[in-house]
Amino acid sequence: MATRAPRVAVIGAGLAGLAAAAHLRANGAEVTVFEAEDSPGGLVRTESIGGHRFDTGATVLTMPSLIVDALGALGVAADEADRRLALRPVDPGYVMNYADGTSLAVPHDAAAIPAAVASVFGEQAGDGVADLLQWLRRVYDAEFDTFIDRNFDGLADLADARTRRSAAELVRLRTLGGLTGAIARFVADERLQRVFTFQALYAGVPPRRARAIYAIIPDMDIGRGVFAPEGGMGRVGRVLADALTDSGADIEYRTPITAIRRDPHGRVSGVAAGDSVVDVDAVVATLERDGVAQLTGERPRRRLRYSPSAVVIHGLLPAGTTDRWRAGHHTLDFGTAWTQTFAEITGRRGRLMSDGSFLITRSAVGDPSTFVADGFESVSVLAPAPNLDSADLDWDRIAEPYVEEVVGTLASRGYPGIDGMRVVRVDHPKTWSQAGLPAGTPFSAAHTASQTGPLRTANVWPTSPNLVLAGSATVPGVGIPPVLVSGGLAAARVTELLRGRDGGR
Ligand SMILES: Cc1cc2nc3c(=O)[nH]c(=O)nc-3n(C[C@H](O)[C@H](O)[C@H](O)COP(=O)(O)OP(=O)(O)OC[C@H]3O[C@@H](n4cnc5c(N)ncnc54)[C@H](O)[C@@H]3O)c2cc1C
Repeated sequence: MATRAPRVAVIGAGLAGLAAAAHLRANGAEVTVFEAEDSPGGLVRTESIGGHRFDTGATVLTMPSLIVDALGALGVAADEADRRLALRPVDPGYVMNYADGTSLAVPHDAAAIPAAVASVFGEQAGDGVADLLQWLRRVYDAEFDTFIDRNFDGLADLADARTRRSAAELVRLRTLGGLTGAIARFVADERLQRVFTFQALYAGVPPRRARAIYAIIPDMDIGRGVFAPEGGMGRVGRVLADALTDSGADIEYRTPITAIRRDPHGRVSGVAAGDSVVDVDAVVATLERDGVAQLTGERPRRRLRYSPSAVVIHGLLPAGTTDRWRAGHHTLDFGTAWTQTFAEITGRRGRLMSDGSFLITRSAVGDPSTFVADGFESVSVLAPAPNLDSADLDWDRIAEPYVEEVVGTLASRGYPGIDGMRVVRVDHPKTWSQAGLPAGTPFSAAHTASQTGPLRTANVWPTSPNLVLAGSATVPGVGIPPVLVSGGLAAARVTELLRGRDGGR
């Protein structure tokens, strides 16, 4: 009997959904991606606001090899993938500006970082950073394939030889203690420690509370370099979406899925977009956990702890204004406070940063033809902020004065002219919440100890074996590299299930 290809619906054309769809196509599935918006990319997007382009979501692109892998699954050769993505190294990857006036430009090429550090912080600091970079790489090597890019089903999975070897290496590398302590073994200067620990915020936890296993994140950005696609971050989603449609997958834009249909045994049988129902053999959903529960008509069991949120200010400055700044594509401007700042934004009773640290993004640095128009440069400032669960602030009232406070602070910290910025859009916890993001944060469930690895929301829905999750809500977690990985893991789950090996679970 001829068997037809399995039909899989992917909900969401963010990078998780696109990666899942790519790997599913590679495995022979018939794939339809349903996307509520009119374009791909989800939170990785370049938008036109009043005729000016802005990267309005993620801006720090690391591990582009994972995008190339997804394209490879669709038959796009690596050199062709590179051509389509048109990535350039962001160099320096970050400029770090400190309250005492010190400034460190972190080169894209890791081999050049120790010398750059030595020129600002002295020879000994440069040597420490050289050793630290090697340690970060070893942590990555021990973790990535064994613990991150892998589906786990239970304790038995931890018993194989490869896993035991990797676990032993992580113990040897002393990654079971705190991240800050681990970094401090290599660099004594607290300012330098910030360079390798601020990334804990990407995982939604304060550096002081993060475990050293999170050192994999500074390896990804500082150790492996940051990239930017020509034309802005939105190019990534477009390239993936185009390759998918070329491969025969369907992408239905402006089609919000309103229900996931299940049979009495909990098996998914279809997805509904309003009145129209599409029959499927499996679904990959890339929404937040509570969003998926809403579509299945269930109540989520336990309350999750969400990451802090962010206020993102998009504005225009007359071209040339930024020439007087010590700033790159990504500039981190640190306040004097550090531990206190994280306590303010991640605490159970959160508050606005009293001595803030900010990320200033100038996508125009490498791509003026996209991000400078009519004599104005697009500039964005990201201010981490507590989420709505920890601080239910009246954002309609405070957003405007807070924006003024942030740009005023930055003007006094060495960014002359920024207080004259023509603000064109502000995203804040309330707007994220209105976009359907729980707790008003786009950074999903925090990677606390009880929400990480095997304890994070699993990628197989507990009451439906053929409903699989991908994206920042599930394993391995938040950010571009993890969600791309999650797409591959979800596709592997579906493929395994539809081949019948796991069907009875
Ligand atoms: C301001 C900001 C800065 C960030 N900075 C970085 C950074 O520098 N580096 C980094 O690595 N990460 C960063 N991130 C995080 C990163 O962007 C996300 O973790 C990642 O893009 C999430 O991808 P996803 O596919 O899981 O979800 P999403 O991108 O949210 O995609 C989900 C998609 O599903 C669609 N959808 C939702 N409901 C439905 C429905 N019912 N039917 C159909 N479609 C639906 C949505 O429209 C969306 O397109 C940042 C995020 C933000 C917002």
